[in-house]
Amino acid sequence: DCGVSEKRDVASERAKGTGLAVSATVKENRPCPTPKRKRDPASTPMERFFRRSLNVTMLCKQTWCEMQAVYSLELPLVAKRELERAEVKAGASVHLARELEVHEVVPVRAVTREDRQAINLLNLLGMIPVLQAGGVVRELPVFGVLEGVYMVGVIDELHYSDRGELVLSELKTRRHSSLPREAQAKGHRLQVGLYKLLFDGLVRGFLTRDDFVEHLRLRLEQPLGAAVLQHAGKLGFQVTTLGDLLDVLLLNLRYCELPGIDVLRLEYRHQDSGLALGSQDVPFDEDLLRAELRNLLSYWTGRREPRGVDIEEAWKCGMCAYEKHCQWRGEQLQGSVTLHTDKKPK
Ligand code: SF4
Repeated sequence: DCGVSEKRDVASERAKGTGLAVSATVKENRPCPTPKRKRDPASTPMERFFRRSLNVTMLCKQTWCEMQAVYSLELPLVAKRELERAEVKAGASVHLARELEVHEVVPVRAVTREDRQAINLLNLLGMIPVLQAGGVVRELPVFGVLEGVYMVGVIDELHYSDRGELVLSELKTRRHSSLPREAQAKGHRLQVGLYKLLFDGLVRGFLTRDDFVEHLRLRLEQPLGAAVLQHAGKLGFQVTTLGDLLDVLLLNLRYCELPGIDVLRLEYRHQDSGLALGSQDVPFDEDLLRAELRNLLSYWTGRREPRGVDIEEAWKCGMCAYEKHCQWRGEQLQGSVTLHTDKKPK
């Protein structure tokens, strides 16, 4: 549908003297979707799904079941129904409520891809001074190239501990009043590890202008829309094009002197009662993390076919929205064994 759609995004600004930040709701005019092209067998999944970047959350889905991650793109109507499930919506509203504790929300209309990217840069630019002042930021955008692929994500919260460590805190709401089993927890660990790689890369100055041109194919000379320019002006940035704004961001990152993330923390909370279920600090091993990332990306860059769950994890199929459509389940599992899909852990 070609109507105006609304999408939440975050920009923040240190509010005078309070350490509070301002966040933005982005309204965008989306062009009509491109008609589906005939599938080119030689194209990679990145090309086939028109992806110039990957979300960290997509890779986390992939650790649960790679076929499921692929179906979420191939069958968008089923995926949309999943997103509309009550518990998914409830989790999103908990995150929004937490964000509103430290941010105000303002609407900004984006017309082009460059506008949307500019809002993302403004979001990050606005949060740098809050972190420099020792404050708390929520919904902080992170991005950059990892293992040859442009990745994007949003960190739930960054704050400093009493010992001055920079702590990443990722909130997970749970339908059950228990901590997750390993099958789910490994995706959560991957998520916070990738956020650290992206954030540390930003503050170490690894992001370049070329990343935006080569990976995202953005036009840096493109003048930004009026609403975005007005928003940038309010935040104190006098720019005309995306390239101008990118230069401001790269300069800020080079001289911000922010530390890398010291602690990766997962916090679990019961969705209905809001009660804390526990928290876990996640060890960080960059070599292991990058090896896992390379394996996940090898599907997206066309070096191997997608895989479904192993037989030991066939219980996941019983709670999968794509079960009826799944070739993997049909071909690999159903013919040879009886699946016990009722044995699903909480
Ligand atoms: Fe993965 Fe099973 Fe769902 Fe297929 S049915 S996508 S193998 S969880």
